[in-house]
Amino acid sequence: MYDVKGNLHRVLDTLPEGVRLVAISKYHPNEYIEAAYEEGQRVFGESHEQELKVKHETLPKDIVWHFIGHLQTNKVKYIAPYINMVEAVDSLKLLKEIDRQAAKCGRVIDVLLELHIAEEATKYGLTLDDCRQLLADGEWRQLEHVRICGLMMMASLTDDREQIRREFTTAADFFDEVKAKYFADAPWFCERSWGMSDDYTIAVECRSTMVRIGTSIFGPRVY
Ligand SMILES: *Cc1c(COP(=O)(O)O)cnc(C)c1O
Repeated sequence: MYDVKGNLHRVLDTLPEGVRLVAISKYHPNEYIEAAYEEGQRVFGESHEQELKVKHETLPKDIVWHFIGHLQTNKVKYIAPYINMVEAVDSLKLLKEIDRQAAKCGRVIDVLLELHIAEEATKYGLTLDDCRQLLADGEWRQLEHVRICGLMMMASLTDDREQIRREFTTAADFFDEVKAKYFADAPWFCERSWGMSDDYTIAVECRSTMVRIGTSIFGPRVY
């Protein structure tokens, strides 16, 4: 098997204090997750509701699951009973549905707002102005079963390290703006989820608190 344990420690050794690892286990089998678990890793990220369901049911119950992919509103109900954090909330509609389903389960679900800063034409994520608008609207304040804990973003897929750095810096500056304006009294609003296998060393220099790393730990994914 792939040297999951060795890789995990190599990654953890490079992370400064205050940066947490979300081990991205999508498309990888339970035995890989168990190997990381045996080394003490507890936070794992998945991006498909069905795959996550099976893993959640068959793996240790103290695993902290983050949903990192694009989440369709009609899938929220399936993960609401157990998901710990939904990282990629990119609309008020989705935020409201998470709130509604969390209420049904008597839970409060932690979420991050996903920003779209990268130059790629992906459909997902809020532009900075969309995000400002969502927060200014204020409807989110009525949602008692979601807790907005910070921001998440993906940098452009490029070899241009300076461009990646600019994008992370934009996200970090935007975090400060939003924190000051809406979450100054909310200590839980503290997460900056950026950095993946290829760019996490830059991300931690740009104030990431949470890196989402798959390939560097588990190897290439077999789709
Ligand atoms: C798959 C994925 C990752 C992990 O990517 P790696 O390059 O394998 O580290 C991180 N974040 C999101 C949102 C992903 O979908």
